[in-house]
Amino acid sequence: MKHRMQTDGTQVRLVRAQRRLESAVAGVLGAVRFNEPLKEYTSFHIGGPADVLAEPVDVEDVARLTKQTYEQALPLFVLGGTNVLVRDKGIRGVVVSLAKLRAIKEEPGSVLYAEGGVGMPTLIGHAIRRSLAGLEWAAGIPGTVAGCVVMNAGTRLGEMKDSVKAVRIVSPKGELIHCPAESIDFRYRRATLPPGVVVGVWLQLRAGVRSDIEQIVKDYLRYRRDTQPLTLPSAGCVFKNPLNDSAGRVVEAAGFKGTSVGDARVSTRHANFIVNQGHASAADVLSLIKKVRSRIARKMGIKLELELKIVGEA
Ligand SMILES: Cc1cc2nc3c(=O)[nH]c(=O)nc-3n(C[C@H](O)[C@H](O)[C@H](O)COP(=O)(O)OP(=O)(O)OC[C@H]3O[C@@H](n4cnc5c(N)ncnc54)[C@H](O)[C@@H]3O)c2cc1C
Repeated sequence: MKHRMQTDGTQVRLVRAQRRLESAVAGVLGAVRFNEPLKEYTSFHIGGPADVLAEPVDVEDVARLTKQTYEQALPLFVLGGTNVLVRDKGIRGVVVSLAKLRAIKEEPGSVLYAEGGVGMPTLIGHAIRRSLAGLEWAAGIPGTVAGCVVMNAGTRLGEMKDSVKAVRIVSPKGELIHCPAESIDFRYRRATLPPGVVVGVWLQLRAGVRSDIEQIVKDYLRYRRDTQPLTLPSAGCVFKNPLNDSAGRVVEAAGFKGTSVGDARVSTRHANFIVNQGHASAADVLSLIKKVRSRIARKMGIKLELELKIVGEA
């Protein structure tokens, strides 16, 4: 009898949880998928399911989704997918992909406005065709322009804060917020922004010579191909560089190149990359990270901080 009552109670809770998810995505015009595995949405090819994944079609659709998610008191996570490790039980609440927000517009004064879901490679291609210089530093970064703002993505040639003029955000209540670059606190691989979804970015570029811009981009892509494991799934660099040092050098010096747990392996090409050799789980990656961090802390006295974002339930 007691068991039956508990089962009924659990079922009632599940039905209520499902209703709240349905209310959060009600009327969203873009694709909505319940219990959607996130593997295919991440560059690591790892990740359990999202309770619900939504792909709003425009800014208004994003506002509808954020407002309704807020009203249902559900968590909302924006997924670009190239700097995250989604744990094996996936993400509770609403996951948003901006894959449909892909417009790029030109404005006077060498300014480009890119919707949040535009990929950096597409944006760089556009800038090259218009002979606009200033984004060469980002050659080879696979994330969305919005994800690159949030992470203040960068390379040894520069970082996002050098290029951003302003950012458009949809707040959790569905309001539009305009954020000039001066109001954003950009730090090493992070930026402090008002809460919400970054739906657009204005980039201040400058008139350049197309062949020169193209050459810098090509050279940097070649450098990446020569030094990074780009043929296997990964999420880019796992650790932030310690002050005046490089995380890759530290991990290599500690002897971890080629070390693996399951199908997760410290790349033999670049020690700050963990690659998925086929069927790595998030638990494999996390166990490998733990191993690397704890031995380096113990033996070298260096506390490696994660650049990778770890999200979801184990
Ligand atoms: C092969 C490879 C090479 C890489 N090289 C570099 C490199 O050289 N330099 C570098 O900095 N990074 C690099 N990265 C990592 C990654 O591309 C960047 O960190 C990028 O900025 C992440 O963008 P994303 O859209 O994939 O966001 P995600 O990785 O999905 O998200 C990162 C964080 O930003 C948040 N976020 C994403 N989009 C939004 C949005 N629209 N609104 C609000 N929050 C949002 C997410 O919720 C999450 O907290 C590399 C990755 C790979 C796979």
